[in-house]
Amino acid sequence: MRIFKYYLPTLKEKPAHAKIISHQYSLRAGLIKQTASGIYSWLPLGLLVLKNIENIIRDEMNKSGVIEVLMPCVQPASLWRESGRYDDYGKEMLHIKDRHGSDMLFGPTHEEVATDLIRDTVRSYKDLPLCLYHIQWKFRDEVRPRYGVMRGREFLMKDAYSFDVDYEGALNSYNLMYKTYIKIFKRMGLTPIGVRADTGPIGGNLSHEFHILANTGESTLYYDNKFSELLESEDVESLKNIYAVADDMHDPKTCLVPQEQLNVSKGIEIGHIFYFGDKYSKPMKASVTSQDGKNVNMHMGSYGIGVSRLVGAIIEAFHDDKGIIWPEAVAPFRIGLINLQTKVTEAADKIYKALKSDEVLYDDTEGSIGVKFSRMDLIGLPWQIIVGKKAINENIVEVKNRATGEVKEMQIEEAINRFSTK
Ligand code: ATP
Ligand code: MG
Repeated sequence: MRIFKYYLPTLKEKPAHAKIISHQYSLRAGLIKQTASGIYSWLPLGLLVLKNIENIIRDEMNKSGVIEVLMPCVQPASLWRESGRYDDYGKEMLHIKDRHGSDMLFGPTHEEVATDLIRDTVRSYKDLPLCLYHIQWKFRDEVRPRYGVMRGREFLMKDAYSFDVDYEGALNSYNLMYKTYIKIFKRMGLTPIGVRADTGPIGGNLSHEFHILANTGESTLYYDNKFSELLESEDVESLKNIYAVADDMHDPKTCLVPQEQLNVSKGIEIGHIFYFGDKYSKPMKASVTSQDGKNVNMHMGSYGIGVSRLVGAIIEAFHDDKGIIWPEAVAPFRIGLINLQTKVTEAADKIYKALKSDEVLYDDTEGSIGVKFSRMDLIGLPWQIIVGKKAINENIVEVKNRATGEVKEMQIEEAINRFSTK
């Protein structure tokens, strides 16, 4: 992609209202634009990152046998009246009335719709286990939308819903999602911590939040430093048994972890998994015939990931004072190609043509060298190929690793071979 033909509205100055680094950089690097409080438009570069995150999630969910559907944003209040949550959910719900006067709402979550989706068709234990997911926009009228996409009012979530015939089945589904979440977050370059969580108004008794460590996180985590070692093994039972909680669950009296082994850090919640038994299946009459011929309410769980929040969380985890440093797996483009002067256009064009255009963002604009360098650092593509005057006589370009800052001179052909995936 040529910047000259692209839409990349970057900002030089940090916006005064943006307090945390991910919010500043996501505005400055031209990833998002605020449309209303807590409501954002995704600009081309931000959208590419969002899609990459989505696709990692989609790929791992599919590999775990979870099936993708798409449920609507706008939901009828009647389903929430059935589950009993309509009056309890509170002010975060955005109420809508249609032209016939029917109560509707913009979905803050989808337990009711998911339960309704399967209740008429899944009737036997033979149809289970079943786990469905979708990636869909939510609306929660947060009291204090802040930190950009980290706490928006409209935000993108991956939410999955599992249905099982008994507790044992539900526990398997839960553990599978726990494991899948670790894979998903690791693929994005993140180190997740799974903390035991309060089940809150959603009910039930098995719940974990996944956090990443960041100074700007809204929660304080207390966890056994053995967690990181065990993360490698992906052994879910051991991971679940290790002491790891957020501040609301931390009790120094029951915490048996020796002081020197207990880490205390701020965390950003990027995912949350719940088991809640028959909380919805019972009032909404979602039951199946069990193996011994009884009619039983399905055991359900739900599993969320903050897809749009992850864009901010990843920036919090990977940046320096010059800008974002995208992990390759989510980067909007893999390579930034910088043409430093018109004299080298032929060489730079040659490199651009040899590589895949959706992997390269080509700075072929006429701006100053300083502007080009700082813009490329700000948007944080993992690799930069810098074409300067050495390209003319010596056939040499510079290849820079954005994360380490390391710069290597390479022959043009060598650089093309290094990055070619054609
Ligand atoms: P929080 O405690 O941060 O308000 P939550 O517990 O209400 O989140 P869940 O209902 O568990 O959120 O939603 C699943 C995931 O969706 C969360 O783990 C988080 O990553 C993301 N999420 C929740 N609320 C928001 C929001 N307002 N903006 C962006 N992402 C959000
Ligand atoms: Mg939560």
